[in-house]
Amino acid sequence: MIPISKPVLGKEEKRAVLKVLDSGFLAQGPKIEEFEKKFAKYIGVKYAIATSSGTTALHIALLAHEIGKGDEVITTPFTFIAPSNVLLYCGAKPVFVDIGEDFNINPDLIEGRITKKTKAILPVHLFGYPADMAKIMKIAKKYHLVVIEDACQAHGASIQRRKVGSFGTGCFSFYPTKNMTTGEGGMITTNNRKVAEKAKLLRNHGMKIRYYHDILGFNFRMTDISAAIGLEQLKKLEKFNQKRISNVNYFNKNIKTSGIILPRVKKGYRHVFHQYTIRITDQCSKSREGLIKILNENGICSVIYYPIPVYRQKPYLKLGYKECLPITEKYSKEVLSLPVHPFLTQKDIRKIASIINSI
Ligand SMILES: *Cc1c(COP(=O)(O)O)cnc(C)c1O
Repeated sequence: MIPISKPVLGKEEKRAVLKVLDSGFLAQGPKIEEFEKKFAKYIGVKYAIATSSGTTALHIALLAHEIGKGDEVITTPFTFIAPSNVLLYCGAKPVFVDIGEDFNINPDLIEGRITKKTKAILPVHLFGYPADMAKIMKIAKKYHLVVIEDACQAHGASIQRRKVGSFGTGCFSFYPTKNMTTGEGGMITTNNRKVAEKAKLLRNHGMKIRYYHDILGFNFRMTDISAAIGLEQLKKLEKFNQKRISNVNYFNKNIKTSGIILPRVKKGYRHVFHQYTIRITDQCSKSREGLIKILNENGICSVIYYPIPVYRQKPYLKLGYKECLPITEKYSKEVLSLPVHPFLTQKDIRKIASIINSI
């Protein structure tokens, strides 16, 4: 089977892990600091704070911005559930806004949902494609809102060469399926010194000095073992992303099935294709389920990201969410993600395109 994703780990990562094991620094040690410095430089921000996962990065970022009980945060329902869940952890209320053709939050619908309680906007750069940050930052400025970017799928994505995660406070994940991995892990990126300092405290039980706890914090630390892997992965990230983009160029040039809509990239935007997500519309001769079956029979794994909008997930129904946002509903019935990861061979990508063209 051609898998939907595959982490690419080599001898460099293995060697780096063994070195850490020999050093005796197993928890948060010198590799964390080095990884944070290099990641901050790569994204183009002053500060980066490593965490145990993308979810804990988001959680800490919200708390560091003092988002909590009674606050409303405008976000997207078409995503992995983490960015909404962290809002609930903090006692804040997710306010869902429909998406656009690029699968990201539709910035033109944001202002209509702003109330006196709105404290922040939390866009997700879904599938590796930047949300419209020019419009989002403009709205945020007008209403004095915090912007937390969920860049968990978008390491290296950019708008006019400015990387995502550098517009507001950015949150990244290094889960094995992402564009780069540390096993489990996350990172917060920011230019705000106060936010960076608070995030560091929150990550480590509120300690600046050992056993002196300034605030209520957590153990959301990354290990040096993970950071050592991350440092090697960061060196390879551009190559990985280039390979994803070149796979997509082949797909976009060669898939020509009527009724199937391929992802497009706006001028000045850099899409890093965490996922290559197509839409199978009514005009297609095959249903989405039919296509999944054919792909499967030919040894190609495809996945629906995401089949159910966040507001219709059980914990949200229980909270009384009754939204039914039309584009989100429509796209969740049409989308299908195909393998696009850097491990694919030329033969794999030709096979994927030709099978789709054969329907
Ligand atoms: C993966 C992901 C997260 C969470 O990251 P973890 O490291 O799995 O906790 C958050 N948001 C999005 C959009 C993701 O894809």
